Amino acid sequence: MFNSTSASSESPRPTYLDLTSLERSWRKGLTPAPDLDVVEWAEEYRKLSKESSNGGRFVTARVEVARGPMLAATEPGVATITLMACTQLLKTTVIENILGRFIHIDPCPILVVQPKDDAAETFSKDRLAPMIRDTKVLRDLFGDAKATDAGATLTHKQFPGGHVTLVGSNSPTNLAMRPIRLLCCDEIDKYPLSAGGEGPPIDLAEERQAEFKTNSLSVRACSPTVTGRSAIEASYDESDQRKAFVRCPHCEHWHPLEWEQVRFDKDEGGKIRAETARYECVGCDKPWTESQRLVALRKIEWRQTRAFTCCGENQVPERWAPEAHGVRRALCLHCGTMAVPNDHAGFVASKLYAPKQTIRETVAKFARALRRGPEALRTFFNTQLARTWKEGADAPDWQDVYTRRDSYLAGTVSRGVLILFGGVDVQKDRLEVSVWGFGRNRERWLIEHRVLPGDTNRAPVWKDLEAMFGETWEHESGADMTVRDWGIDSSGFTAEVYAFVRSQAGRPVHAVDGQDSYAAAFLGVGAKDATPAGKKLRRGLKTIRVGASFAKQELMGCLALQRPSEGKPYPAGFVHLPRDVTEDQVKQLTAEELVTHVTRGRTRREWVPIGGRRNEVLDCANYARGLAAMRGWDRWRETHWRELEGALGIERDRPAGLPEASVPEAVVAAGSLAARNLQRASAKRSRVRSRTTR
Ligand SMILES: [Zn+2]
Ligand SMILES: [Zn+2]
Repeated sequence: MFNSTSASSESPRPTYLDLTSLERSWRKGLTPAPDLDVVEWAEEYRKLSKESSNGGRFVTARVEVARGPMLAATEPGVATITLMACTQLLKTTVIENILGRFIHIDPCPILVVQPKDDAAETFSKDRLAPMIRDTKVLRDLFGDAKATDAGATLTHKQFPGGHVTLVGSNSPTNLAMRPIRLLCCDEIDKYPLSAGGEGPPIDLAEERQAEFKTNSLSVRACSPTVTGRSAIEASYDESDQRKAFVRCPHCEHWHPLEWEQVRFDKDEGGKIRAETARYECVGCDKPWTESQRLVALRKIEWRQTRAFTCCGENQVPERWAPEAHGVRRALCLHCGTMAVPNDHAGFVASKLYAPKQTIRETVAKFARALRRGPEALRTFFNTQLARTWKEGADAPDWQDVYTRRDSYLAGTVSRGVLILFGGVDVQKDRLEVSVWGFGRNRERWLIEHRVLPGDTNRAPVWKDLEAMFGETWEHESGADMTVRDWGIDSSGFTAEVYAFVRSQAGRPVHAVDGQDSYAAAFLGVGAKDATPAGKKLRRGLKTIRVGASFAKQELMGCLALQRPSEGKPYPAGFVHLPRDVTEDQVKQLTAEELVTHVTRGRTRREWVPIGGRRNEVLDCANYARGLAAMRGWDRWRETHWRELEGALGIERDRPAGLPEASVPEAVVAAGSLAARNLQRASAKRSRVRSRTTR
């Protein structure tokens, strides 16, 4: 049994040549722990826990891609390791094995940082404790510690020669508590920008390593998030940017596996056929079978890919030194020196390197995310591809959005539109009204935007709005549509709006309460039974609570979607704008950007108007979106779409490939809003022409 007692902070990395530590061990009559790297240690001592796997010995070859990052922990010169990886591939394994190896054979003060205190406790309970319990050498060490020091807690555990402390990134006092040599920062994209106003948590923690300048190690791990705001991406960019190269079974070309080389076919309807998914070599374009991919994954070369300047030339690595400590260092083409420093070793790995997830499974996940829209796609990019997501949330360029507008005219309703919602923004001297159409595939259409001028303290402008409620809009099929629900912003001119909404009893007209929430577009119904002045109301008014921040973020992502080439289907969530939409309307639609603030150590992301732009068109869009969510747009299935189509009389024109519609009369059930629209349509066939708004 090994029971390390080389517990000296002056010589924290003992080797066989380290006589002092050997001598000390002899004196104590114990066998010194052998000097092993993390891979050797894990294969020799680590037992996997049933909680996270099937149990049994740790075998690096099962996650070959983790070998390089593990070896970097003892690679001479490396002080920082960055792991930008997809979920459930190597991050936790690498962190656990590094912890185990240092606790056992190179004991020192260790700090593990998680985003919050409860995450730190969870890591201690679900990861650290089972590893200690199932790995005998660790169990013995902590067993000793317990006997002598009963003070072991969930977040602080002592062992001979060191301790492991687990803290949340939001507590500056814990981060700055005492000197540490090994620092593991997990999930760093979830840290606040500043811990309690004292600076970035990682900086605070790394300052604690000053006493161990020559042999400290800092490990940072996370899946990336949003481009430009991802801490792990920034950290990887600073690193030597190692990539995992594998060899093509056909042409022997070594290259990193990239998503761009994954191919799949689509059916006539444009749907991805995941069963056709395959990886194609970037060198020879030949497809790999799944078993060829698994064979390729058995031999991984981590190579530095960071560009550098040497011999007066800017170079991208093309030549590498032979592998040592699991890495091939980049060489200058001219003088042959190792031109990229290795003090910061960065690793990136996607699910394409996961032996347990096939390319087909990855593509099936991609297809699902595509169907569900930008938020789901972002998650796919982050958690599966280990890539940041370039977020349209930063308000896409209004010119780009303006350029990709549709060919229909404002006031007309395209074929894909199957239900209408109206949003009204209230200003002192006018009302602004948008009518939006919603359809399948999460697509939506701006039908028109109107400005109704007039003092909102006075009746006439409200009369104009009321008149709009009676209007119909002609669908491309010839049917006239009414707006299903109208939502009026009640935040600014509450009394006027409540009074007006009350006067519309019996009509689907609602007071809307926009909230700074990212939870959902529709947050439920709020009861207002008192006026702002505190006067009790006899019959309380219900307000529709809309998640304005959610709606804005979603809309910006959707506006950033590219128009597909001719004949190709629209991407899920595509926002259609009329040909005659004005530049000003598009500017307003893209008028806000997401800004990150830090106040007293807490990060807040807030939508703020871009330099002086008005945003009424955007607000109207959000109210309409909230109403659509209220009616269930987000979860409607094909049967419901066909009901709506049936009511509009366009079931004959359903796209090819869809099954026969069920009997329209039967499905146009009582209460179906489309049915009601149709009845109104036949009663009143007036066509509303688009009016210019300003
Ligand atoms: Zn090839
Ligand atoms: Zn050179």
